[in-house]
Amino acid sequence: LDNEYDVVVIGAGPGGSVAARNLARFGYKTLLLEKRERIGYPVRCGEASTNLADLETYGPIDEDCIETIINGLFIYGPDGVNIEVPKPNMGLMLNRLKFDPWLAHLAANDGVEVVTCARATSVSEVQGDCRIVCVSLGQGDGNGKVTETSTQEIRAKMVVGADGVESQIGRMVGLKSGQLPNLTCTGVDIEVKGLLTKPDYLTFWQGHDFINDGYIWSFPKQRSDVTNFGAGFIVPNKPGPNIYEVTLEWLEKLFPGAKINHTVGGLVPVSGFLKQYTLDRFALVGDAAHHTNPLTGGGIAAAMRAGRFCAQRVDEGFKAHDLSQKFLQGYEKHCYSYFGRMHDFELKFRKFLLALNKPDQIELYKVLQGFALSGYKKRAFLKTPIQTTKYLYRFLKFKG
Ligand code: FAD
Repeated sequence: LDNEYDVVVIGAGPGGSVAARNLARFGYKTLLLEKRERIGYPVRCGEASTNLADLETYGPIDEDCIETIINGLFIYGPDGVNIEVPKPNMGLMLNRLKFDPWLAHLAANDGVEVVTCARATSVSEVQGDCRIVCVSLGQGDGNGKVTETSTQEIRAKMVVGADGVESQIGRMVGLKSGQLPNLTCTGVDIEVKGLLTKPDYLTFWQGHDFINDGYIWSFPKQRSDVTNFGAGFIVPNKPGPNIYEVTLEWLEKLFPGAKINHTVGGLVPVSGFLKQYTLDRFALVGDAAHHTNPLTGGGIAAAMRAGRFCAQRVDEGFKAHDLSQKFLQGYEKHCYSYFGRMHDFELKFRKFLLALNKPDQIELYKVLQGFALSGYKKRAFLKTPIQTTKYLYRFLKFKG
């Protein structure tokens, strides 16, 4: 490693790799640090993502990364009110064991220095025209365990923290990027042999007693002939049922005898964006900035989008000789107008849905079901004007 870079990006998830690649393409000397031995491993994700056309705006996507083309959604709602939403090419099931390294590979091809077994341990205050990043460099044992072999201090004119949901980097520099119950969702994903549900659909269970504050998913990975079966629940304020056991129970109930390959778990920030995630010569990207969708918990596409927007603003900042927080705020504003406002709406909708009593939830599902059956035709939606108006009114008045 050199001792000086234009930009150091911390974390080689989708957000970090996209940010780093774009920065290198703008011509900046960029270092991408990843603490793990193997990028993308272990996968802690349901792997459902945006469609190919959207992903390809970030560069070519190797076909090995793609498991399934998703052509619709099926939701098992409360009291047997189910919703089917056919939508050809609406998304993809990825194989993140291949996708995350692929994005880092694209970054490396464009000139980023990608280093694994390299954990950022601290980021200093601004000193002159840079921040100092301390890095613990190590050796992997081939099984994911990394042993430190040396440390190094690196000067960076700009630091991007893309270190995921458990982000320490943001806190190190004084941002409020911690996790709070009720604002965080715990997710469990169980990889099961074979395809459990419709092979080109994402299937969900929501609004049932067992998952009042979350949902269960079944996502088919056709190429590997496995299903990601999982659940996401809001972290309760007080000790609640063990999410892993609940998910297992439901797997057994819905698909008796399902054969489990392995299980992963993790946190998802579902609070909506952090209030502030830029400082002088510093920005957070992706889960670290809570860019995740607060309704669905999806964060792959959001992290990539933020990575691109961050790189654009940093490039403008370099050109204007201004990497102050005031200038970098332009990145926060761009993210907010592009997808943050929508996330605020979705956050409100989630809270509204969870605050409804059971009969109202069922009624709302019926309204949505009618809307879906009509193929989202506004006129058909308005055929139930009383119910629709009632829910729209209650939603607009909802203060939660
Ligand atoms: P990450 O992918 O978390 O990458 C952060 C990287 O930073 C990691 O590689 C980490 O090792 C590295 N790192 C951390 N600290 C340091 C350090 N100090 N130094 C160097 N490296 C560091 N999203 C979807 O879109 N679809 C889904 O189906 C979906 N399902 C999910 C299911 C579960 C159970 C969970 C937990 C999450 C799920 N998500 C899903 C969310 C999705 O995984 C994240 O939103 C996404 O990975 C965020 O990308 P990122 O680049 O911000 O962070």
